This record gives sequence, structure tokens and C-alpha cells, in this order.
Amino acid sequence: MQPKTFKCMKCGECCSWRGYVHLTREDITRLSDFIEITEGEFINAFTRITEDRQGLSLNERENGECVFLSGSICSVYKARPKQCRNFPTIWSIEGAEALCKGLKKEIPDTNSTT
Ligand code: SF4
Repeated sequence: MQPKTFKCMKCGECCSWRGYVHLTREDITRLSDFIEITEGEFINAFTRITEDRQGLSLNERENGECVFLSGSICSVYKARPKQCRNFPTIWSIEGAEALCKGLKKEIPDTNSTT
């Protein structure tokens, strides 16, 4: 379901949930370029194999947050994975509106004439 209004508030909440951040081939290339390391170095340092052994996910810290979260900010935002780019407009989770500040934000209607 597409949210009616969404503006990321950069609260870092979605980056703190436990779970996989699945990586595409293009994600690995973009992220390793951004960090300026080889794809092999990136895979070794920042990824883990998923339980079904079908792909790679970003590592997470012991508390579940993404390895690239810095405070509440994504330190690789410009190169972030497709999965992160698509939340919550292309995919979402049940209860996301209670967790994602960007979905709760009132966005003024700039087309309104009143
Ligand atoms: S939870 Fe929502 S508002 Fe917060 S960083 Fe994630 S997408 Fe942005």
C-alpha cells in the first residue's frame, strides 16, 4: 500500500530494526564505490549470508541496528541499498505508521489555493 504522505525525518528508527537488509549486485557495487574499497573487501567487512543462503545482507550490530547507522543518520545515505530506498513507499511492515516518523508527519498541501 502506498502511503498518502511520506517525508523521511531521518530518525533512524527503520535502521534500528533487526532483520535483513538484502543486497543486490548493484547495491554492492554502489556501496563499495562510495566507501572506496573493493567489492570483495566490502562483502568481507560489511555483509553476512542470509539464512536461506540465497544472498547477502548488511551486517547489524549486537543491538540490531544497521552497521552503517551513525547516531540517527545513515552514513551511506547517498549509496544506500535498494531495500532502504524503497521503504516505506514500495514496501512496508505492519504497524509502520506507529514507528516511522515520516509517515506521521503532516505535509502541507502546496497545491491548495486556500
Ligand atoms: S523510520 Fe521513517 S522517518 Fe525514520 S529514518 Fe526510517 S523512513 Fe525515515
